[in-house]
Amino acid sequence: MVGNRTFSMIKPDAVRDGQSGSILKMIEAAGFRIVAIKLTYLSSERAGEFYGVHADKPFYPSLKAIMSESPIMALILEKENAVEDFRKLIGSTNPANAAEGTIRKQFAKSLERNAVHGSDSDENAAIEGSFFFSNLEKY
Ligand code: ATP
Ligand code: MG
Repeated sequence: MVGNRTFSMIKPDAVRDGQSGSILKMIEAAGFRIVAIKLTYLSSERAGEFYGVHADKPFYPSLKAIMSESPIMALILEKENAVEDFRKLIGSTNPANAAEGTIRKQFAKSLERNAVHGSDSDENAAIEGSFFFSNLEKY
């Protein structure tokens, strides 16, 4: 996966609350092509592995619990400058700081339940995409 792809997840409570369709609509309207999509489930262990960079943070146990409480939607998205443009589309981590028109502004319930994940670098986009999908060269 090179610079025109990113990885995203629609988080459990957003999927559970029926917001996936509206979020996908915003993603496509912003010019991203859905390359791969999967409704799946993260165990607490897998959620902890996915967010391993935060293992020493105080919020890590609750992050693992929230990310494993019900299914998530995993996405690989394609667009020029995908990683940076997608981070702009989702908005700040804390929805209180998220700009108007961003996904988190519209759908996040709190800092911990902020509706979507977006990769923060091309390198992590490739790692995270491979965490959920195999044979990506065929997509
Ligand atoms: P994500 O990786 O999910 O796209 P992000 O890159 O905007 O989010 P990170 O710093 O990677 O933010 O944090 C990962 C997730 O952990 C956040 O999306 C949020 O749900 C949660 N989180 C981050 N900081 C805090 C905090 N101070 N208190 C509680 N939860 C937090
Ligand atoms: Mg992050």
